[in-house]
Amino acid sequence: MTSVVIIGGGVIGLSLGWRAAQRGLAVTVADATPGQGASFASAGMLAPAAEAAYAEQLLYRLGTESLRRYPDFISELTEFTGCDTGFSLPGSLLVGYDSGDLALVEEKRALQERFGAPGQWLTGRECRALEPLLAPGVGGGLFMPGQGAVDPRLLTRWRHPVRAAGGRAGPARWRGGRGDAHGRDGDRGGRGGAGRRGGVG
Ligand SMILES: Cc1cc2nc3c(=O)[nH]c(=O)nc-3n(C[C@H](O)[C@H](O)[C@H](O)COP(=O)(O)OP(=O)(O)OC[C@H]3O[C@@H](n4cnc5c(N)ncnc54)[C@H](O)[C@@H]3O)c2cc1C
Repeated sequence: MTSVVIIGGGVIGLSLGWRAAQRGLAVTVADATPGQGASFASAGMLAPAAEAAYAEQLLYRLGTESLRRYPDFISELTEFTGCDTGFSLPGSLLVGYDSGDLALVEEKRALQERFGAPGQWLTGRECRALEPLLAPGVGGGLFMPGQGAVDPRLLTRWRHPVRAAGGRAGPARWRGGRGDAHGRDGDRGGRGGAGRRGGVG
C-alpha cells in the first residue's frame, strides 16, 4: 500500500488526509497540536466576493469555483461523520457608517461588477432588516448573495481522527481508506460503511 505523510493537521492537511485515505492510501497526518493553527483562529468566512481586491481577479475566480464545489464537499463530509460543520450560505453583508465608509463599500461594489459578480446596494434600513444586530447608525451596505461561512473549529474537531489522540507527543497516525475499519480513541469514524473509517494509532 502506498504511504503518505502529511505534515500539519489544519483544515488543509486534514482534508488532504481524508481524501487520500478514501483512496486507499496509508495516511499519516503528523501534528502535535492538530486543529490549533490558523484553522482554529479563522472566522471561516466563505466569501470570495467580499474578500476580492484589485488585481485579484484570478484569485476571485478560484475562490468562486471553490465555493461552488463546497456544498457537495460539506455534504459528503457530514454524511461521513454525522456531525455538524456550521456551514450555511446566507450571503455576506458589507456595511458602512459614514460617507468615507460608504465610498469604500461603493469601490467594492464597482470592483465586483468588473469581476462579473455585482452585489446589491441596500439602505441602512434594509441592512438592519437583514441583520437586526447592526447598530442604528449603519448608513448602507452591499449584499453579496451565495456567500457564507463554516465553523473551522467544528471542521477540525470532527473531521479527523488525529485530534482524538490529543495530548500524545509526536506524530499521530491516521489509518483509513478501503478495507480499514479500525477507528479508535473516540474517533467518530463516520457512517460511510466499510472502507470509509479512519483510525488513530
Ligand atoms: C485570524 C484569522 C482569520 C481568518 N479568517 C478566515 C476566513 O474568514 N476565511 C478563510 O477562508 N480563511 C481565513 N483565515 C485563513 C485560514 O485560517 C487559513 O487559510 C487556513 O486555516 C489554513 O489551513 P492550514 O491547514 O493550511 O493551516 P493551519 O490550520 O495553520 O494548520 C497547520 C498545522 O501545521 C502544524 N505544523 C506546523 N509546523 C509543523 C511541523 N513542523 N510538524 C508538524 N506539524 C506542524 C500546526 O500545528 C498546524 O496545526 C483566517 C486566518 C486567521 C489567522
